[in-house]
Amino acid sequence: MALPSKMRACVFDGAESMKMVDKETPTLQHPKDIIVRIIASTVCGTDLHLYHNEMAGLRKGDVLGHEGLGIVEQVGKLTYKAWTSANRIDCS
Ligand SMILES: [Zn+2]
Repeated sequence: MALPSKMRACVFDGAESMKMVDKETPTLQHPKDIIVRIIASTVCGTDLHLYHNEMAGLRKGDVLGHEGLGIVEQVGKLTYKAWTSANRIDCS
């Protein structure tokens, strides 16, 4: 199944402000990349530091979030053989 050209993303919008925006759907850039369609996510302590703008280098528009459950949509040529399209994985 082809991925849509756009996806929804939660981005940093300044201290204690986040918003949902449309972003281009990512593409495989490296042979070890995978593309995961997130179906559930949560926040962790790191996200709170980002939300309060306590981490250097964060800029307005940076995509937040790194904890999730999803379905593998695409795999690079050098990914683990066990990771194939349609696998459900925990991203953490
Ligand atoms: Zn985390």
